[in-house]
Amino acid sequence: MTSAYRCFCFAVPSRLLKKLATKAGEADRHVMRGHIEHTARLRSLRSAWSAPAPLPPLLAATAHKVAAPGQRTVFDAGTGMLLPGKPARAEGDKPVRDKAVNQVYDNTGITLDFFLKVFGRNSIDNRGMRVNSAVHFGKNFSNAMWTGEQMVYGDGDANVGGFTQALDIIAHELTHGVTQHLIPRGLGVVRVPVRDREFKEQTHALQGQSGALNESFSDVVGSMVKQWHAGEDVTGASWLLGEHMLAPEHGKAIRSLKDPGNRKLTWYEDDQFKSMDQYVDSADVHDSSGIPNHAFYLAARKMSGYSWEAAGPIWYEAFAQLKPRASFVDAARATLGAALARHGLQSKEYKAVNAAWRAVKVLP
Ligand SMILES: [Zn+2]
Repeated sequence: MTSAYRCFCFAVPSRLLKKLATKAGEADRHVMRGHIEHTARLRSLRSAWSAPAPLPPLLAATAHKVAAPGQRTVFDAGTGMLLPGKPARAEGDKPVRDKAVNQVYDNTGITLDFFLKVFGRNSIDNRGMRVNSAVHFGKNFSNAMWTGEQMVYGDGDANVGGFTQALDIIAHELTHGVTQHLIPRGLGVVRVPVRDREFKEQTHALQGQSGALNESFSDVVGSMVKQWHAGEDVTGASWLLGEHMLAPEHGKAIRSLKDPGNRKLTWYEDDQFKSMDQYVDSADVHDSSGIPNHAFYLAARKMSGYSWEAAGPIWYEAFAQLKPRASFVDAARATLGAALARHGLQSKEYKAVNAAWRAVKVLP
């Protein structure tokens, strides 16, 4: 097992969940509070995950086959919290009756395909790592996450759901895994004490500008995978992440790369940053990630065509070179370096990257 840390990277930030809980009715609020506590508890629950899971029977039966790149297995947690759960569909199996299982199988496949065809990357670790996912995690658990080893999806509730059918959310989570393998010791991963007295162990979280870069890279790839699959160019794409996941009274999407913090496009209290003017050091990484997100959007928009053709490879190449505590300026320099090496100083790609980081005020 190559993962050096245990970071629970969630799709829906806890602030959004808390707001939904406040806005929702009393009964819903009670349930949502439960989820938030559930989520906090998950961060501290290590023992269930600390040892690599024994090979389940279904996998053991096929283990003699040579592992093809990024073999998928979808497990069913059966609304429980024990991972990995029961094997529900393995690589090459026909669709099963459970829709969530098939959705995760398909969307994970599209994401792995994107990494292979666009970036030449063989699965999460670039060595053909098996990709495990669990669906039906917890009772009405309203989130998706990367645990450091696998992906996990809840069923959601009346306020937020549809995690397994959201290609960009699945790509976002899988990309947290890619980042973990791209950058030894992780990007922006810090040890944080666990408050729960029952679980005294430490766990990890994303913090600071490097943590925001980690979050942003997942959003950037999530958005690109969605565009790639739909064949959308930079003007045709919505640049929204997590569309149609919130109940209509809460909003339309989780985040926008095109216009971070635009509540009409996203949800009613979105306050993602769009430029360094808004930046504060203590901000949640899901807020500060808006700055590099928007830089990517601006660069891709200026390059025109498809985001994954020029802008995507520049970002991927640059992020692979970042140090664990990289700042936004470091990311700007790395993307400029990659644009220069690929296209030259006088290229429209180099100029687009430069203009983008200046527009969000990361570069003067
Ligand atoms: Zn994330």
